[in-house]
Amino acid sequence: MNLAKSILKGIASMITCEPDRYWSHNRPGALRPGIRTVRWLGLTVSLAAGACSIQKTLLAGPAETNQLRILLVTGQDYPAHVWRETAPALRRLLEDDARFKVRVIEDPHALDSAMLTNYDAVLLHFQNWQQPGPGAAARDNLQRFVTNGGGLVSVHFACGAWHGEWPEFQNIMGRVWHGQGPGKPQHDKRGKFLVEIADKTHPITAGLTDFETTDELYTCLTGDAPIHLLAHAKSKVDQKYHPQAFSREYGKGRVFLTTLGHDVFAYTNNPVVGELLRRGTAWSAGVSTQPAKQTNSQPHLH
Ligand SMILES: [Zn+2]
Repeated sequence: MNLAKSILKGIASMITCEPDRYWSHNRPGALRPGIRTVRWLGLTVSLAAGACSIQKTLLAGPAETNQLRILLVTGQDYPAHVWRETAPALRRLLEDDARFKVRVIEDPHALDSAMLTNYDAVLLHFQNWQQPGPGAAARDNLQRFVTNGGGLVSVHFACGAWHGEWPEFQNIMGRVWHGQGPGKPQHDKRGKFLVEIADKTHPITAGLTDFETTDELYTCLTGDAPIHLLAHAKSKVDQKYHPQAFSREYGKGRVFLTTLGHDVFAYTNNPVVGELLRRGTAWSAGVSTQPAKQTNSQPHLH
């Protein structure tokens, strides 16, 4: 690239990347170094072009239309949930399907960003334990995203986000965690249990067979909105079946929820868990649940 082109590209990039800087301006945490980088690189137009290009990749998601752009929202959880380990594991697991491009953001409050619409689906992997959840702007933005056709995925304790703060969350998700308080059950003690496929024809579960996993079997979901049960498991404590994965629609959007995923091992101990998550996420994003290409047929066994 000659100098003139570089200068022109730099100017254009500085103009066009401006909206992407929204999160950096408002989120002093994970992306602050990016802002500092932009300021330093403002010394030269050509380098600024490169900086904005990098920042656009970080903030706006990939430009390729054949990719599934997923925003994985994490950064807060109950202390026993090590999101710094499980979030990367989730990302790897999804990106085993070559269509997935996952961006991880370690700040649930970023759900208030207008950039949400740059993604095909939002994957909730956080729970604001003993802290207020993302506020009204984030709640309204997420609800609008799903109502307008965005995909929404919730794994494990994310169904307990905004606990008691946002009644509509239960209507969006269909079922939410309600285990807090004396006498209220939450889940069977972490261990092995059998997940039984409840619908063997749905695109998310077609061809999958019952599988054993090591995880927490949630027994505390509440809600009465219609759900399409995909998989369930029988509690050793109350001898009842409880949903482990289900789908539903909200407005024009598709919602997929699984209670599986307490820790990294829960995601990796059986490859069917990963398959279920990939398919559920693809379905929520409105595309085929069959992968374009798997990089490894059993990538996470260990
Ligand atoms: Zn857990």
